[in-house]
Order: sequence, then C-alpha cells, then structure tokens
Amino acid sequence: MRWTQIYIPTLREDPAEAELISHKLLLRAGFMRKVTAGVYNYLPLMQRVLHKISNITREEMNRAGALEVTMPVLHPAEVWQASGRWDVVGKEQMRLKDRHQRDLVLGGTHEEIITTLIKGELRSYRQLPLNMYQIQVKFRDEIRPRFGLMRGREFIMKDAYSFDRDEEGLKIAYQKMVDAYFRIFRRCGFDIRKVESDTGQMGGTGAHEFMVVVDTEGGENTIFYCDKCEYAANQDKATFISDQPDERENEKLPLEEVHTPDRKTIEEVTDFLKLPAERLVKTLLYRADDQIVAALIRGDRQINEIKLKNESGCLELEMADAPTVQSITGSEVGFAGPCDLKRVKFFLDEEVSKMANFVTGANKTDYHYKNVNAGRDFRVDHITDLKLAEGGERCPHCEKGSLKTDRGIEVGNTFMLGTKYSEALKAYFVDADGKDKPFVMGSYGVGITRTAQAVAERFNDKYGIIWPKSIAPFGIVITPTNYQDEKLKEIADQIHGELEKKGLEVILDDRDERAGVKFNDADLIGFPLRVTVGERGLAKGQVEVKVRRTGEVTSMDLDPAADKIAEIYDRID
Ligand SMILES: [Zn+2]
Repeated sequence: MRWTQIYIPTLREDPAEAELISHKLLLRAGFMRKVTAGVYNYLPLMQRVLHKISNITREEMNRAGALEVTMPVLHPAEVWQASGRWDVVGKEQMRLKDRHQRDLVLGGTHEEIITTLIKGELRSYRQLPLNMYQIQVKFRDEIRPRFGLMRGREFIMKDAYSFDRDEEGLKIAYQKMVDAYFRIFRRCGFDIRKVESDTGQMGGTGAHEFMVVVDTEGGENTIFYCDKCEYAANQDKATFISDQPDERENEKLPLEEVHTPDRKTIEEVTDFLKLPAERLVKTLLYRADDQIVAALIRGDRQINEIKLKNESGCLELEMADAPTVQSITGSEVGFAGPCDLKRVKFFLDEEVSKMANFVTGANKTDYHYKNVNAGRDFRVDHITDLKLAEGGERCPHCEKGSLKTDRGIEVGNTFMLGTKYSEALKAYFVDADGKDKPFVMGSYGVGITRTAQAVAERFNDKYGIIWPKSIAPFGIVITPTNYQDEKLKEIADQIHGELEKKGLEVILDDRDERAGVKFNDADLIGFPLRVTVGERGLAKGQVEVKVRRTGEVTSMDLDPAADKIAEIYDRID
C-alpha cells in the first residue's frame, strides 16, 4: 500500500476536544473524527485496527464453540417491556418512534432479542448447550459522552449469549468465555485482570469485568486486588473486612444534645468534639425513586452508592437536594441524624450496627447528639454493607492480605444471567425428565472500539501510539527520505514489493514531504517497524530498520534487506 493512496489526515496540534492521551493521539494520527457527541467516523487506519481486533475476537469465539449470527440494531419496544428492562435501563437507552408512532429501541445489548429468537423453536435439552454471538454496532445514550471511544454513544461490541440446561452447564459455558477473553486480550497485547463486578441492570447471579491496567487518566475504574490471594473486584463490588469492634454489649449512655455552632462537616464536628471521625456516624439522605432513604455510615468512610441502590431496589438513586434535606430534617444541611427522623427508611452499614454511643446530627441547626444507639434511639430498617473500599483494607477473601489499587479500563464483561430473561420472556425447553424448564443463560461482551482506544492509552510515548504487531494498521512503514530521488525511489519500491510478496502488511511513504515530517507521522501513527531508505545509508549500500517500541536501530546491507527486515519483524511483539 502507498501512503498517497490511503487517507491519513494527521494533525500537528492536540485537538481541544480531547482530554485523554489516547483520544488525542487517535485524532492526531488520523484514526478517527468526531461526528457529534460520542459518535465517530472510523478512518481507514482505524478500520484496519478494528478488523484485526474483531478477527482475533471472532477466532477465539469460534474456537470456544460459539456461533456467529447477526441480530438487528433496531428492536421493538415490546421485548424490552416484556423483560421488565424498559423501565430499568431508562434514559441510557436510545429510543425512537417510527411513522406509526410505535416505540423502537437502538440496541445496546441483545438478551431480549436472542431469547425471543430461540423461544419456542429450541425445544429439546439435546440441542443444548448453545452459544451465539455477533460483532455489531451498539448504542447507549450516555449522560456525558467523553473520552472518545471510551464513553461513546455509538460503538462496536462483540456480544455473546449462552444457553444451558442448568447452573452446572452455565459454569462450564462461563469458564469457556473467560478463557477465550484471556486469549483475546493477550493477543491484543494486554496484561488483563479479571475482577468481580456488580451485575447492574443486567441482573443475574454474578459478573466479572476484564480490565486493562493503565496509569493514566484513561483508567477510569479503580480496581482492588489482594496482595496475598486471587481476590480482585471493581469499586462497585469491592468489600473488605472491617476493623470495627463489636460494641453492642457496651453500656448505653444517655443521649446528650451538644451545641456545635456552625460545625457541619465531619472534620469540623470531630475537631470541635475532639473525637476521631470513626466515632461519628454520617446520615446521608437520598431520593430513591419516590421515597427518601437515609444511609448511615461511619464518619471516616465513603458511601458506595451502587450498594445502596441495589439494597434499596430503586431504579434511580440521587442525593437529596438541600431543600429536601431541610424539609425532612427541619434543619440546615449538615445536621441530619437518625433520631426523630420521620418518613425515611434507614439503611445502616454493618459497622454502624455494631457501634455504641456514637455522634450524629440532631436534626436541629447547630446541634449534634452524643451517645446515639441504634435500636434505642431510632428504628433500624436494613443492615447491610454500604462502604466504599479505598485501598489498604483487609482482604474479604483470604482475610490476611491487604487490598491494593490500580486504575483500569474495562474492555470486556461477563454475566451469569441465570433464568432472569428466560423466565421473564417465557423461554422454556423440555428437559430429559419431560418437564419444561427455563434456559440458564450467560452473556458476554467485548468492546471492540473501546479495546482499540485502550491499546492507544496503554501503549504510547511522547511521539505517538505504539501498536502491538497483532493489531497494528500496518506492520511496517518504509520511509524514503526523498521519494523524488530516483535511486531512493527504486530501492524503496523494491523493498516494498519484496516485503509485500512475503505477505507482510507494508505501507510505503511515497509522499513528497520532508523526511522529518514522515518520521514524525510514522512515530505518531505507531507502525511497529520503520525501514528508512536514506542517502547516507545508501552511500554505504545500507538501509536502516527501527523498532518503534524499543527504539532499537539496525543497519543492514541492501542485499538481502527484505529477508532481514522480515526476520526482525518476526521477532518483535
Ligand atoms: Zn486475599
């Protein structure tokens, strides 16, 4: 391929629209262009990368026994209403009406469609297990699309769905997908970490995310892992062993109102009362759909809103605004407490349930209570884990290790759905005992476009992207320093032809540009290997080969340069 025959609009400057290094580089290197918020054109170089990631994914899915299909992007609203997800997914779903005013959905996931597809037709246990997948464009109406392909509204995904007779079958199907995912992401050049995750709106009995560890802004997820065992979880899901002593048998001291003028924050109150933050209990008020809930956690902890949302079973959870807090507590914000608080449901973190004689707000401006005790001073509705892990806590699995943190980009996810969708959509098969049973399902996603950007986020330097060979748009770039020079042109053309004959993906930079521009573009785009055909080298009968990742330079004689270049290319990653 010749550079002048392909469209690569590179930019000198960082585009203002991009925050992440990967986003900047993909725009600058001419891989993509924004159409509107969260929607992109993928240019020829990107298309080549996406094809390669898709093909690796396809090969590994096929190897795991999954069957490729194509389902529609456009879904009737009815299937989403039947599964009960129409309300749950809510505003994240891209919706439209057709000319008959019928509701339609642009799919973000296909559990409903595939379950409806096999319902009534796949009837016998003998046809199980079954796993079908597709690689296709998906939609999600992100509240704040950003970070390029990381939080897009239109993106490409591989989604697979497994159907089994029972939980045992699901476990096997699930493990096959986990193994396939490790192979896919390793082939894309990543060290991948599998972490426990919340099931979210997908539902089901368990889930994992596959994370690329990065140390940049692009790592928008915090990953927790144990330094002694295999435990790993994302922030939504991570738990830990609390250091809270059980004080339930302690003597309960009389409730005492204390004047705390203008002390609203944890820091102000604990400073004033000369107590550590863990003796104070925060009362956080939330609007959970149409009711108000109060979450009580220790003063030194942060709340995990996902856990609270799951526990309260609401569709939408948001912190109560100041007027609501004032009307519920009868005081200014900063003095909320559980005592005498009416019209709210209490969710106590486990730690709080073990505490005695703690401090809370008094629902009275400028006052707090000391010696508050759950049960005696206020009603306990639910006791649960509401704490956000922050790192440094004790591992919940081995109970010995300490939780460490990393930042990660989620590139894949797997869900044990169980019978949630088959029961909701009444999809049954006849088992060996002659009885109708719901399919036991799993679903499995790989973000194809997200993986491409994750690679750029993970592998780059100050000059540009560094593609792993497996998914680079071209493996080798040939850079004649002056293509107008007959001799240089002849040698460059010859090496180009020989390398192409060997089946390598080569691009020849035949532009009438200065050598410096060509070198910069080659580094910016990130081809794994660059062959420089320059006057100085040719004077010695040599060309120069540079490995993008390591910067290693090798000079070699012209005859037989192509063989040696192919050898070097063969041994790099
Ligand atoms: Zn552990």
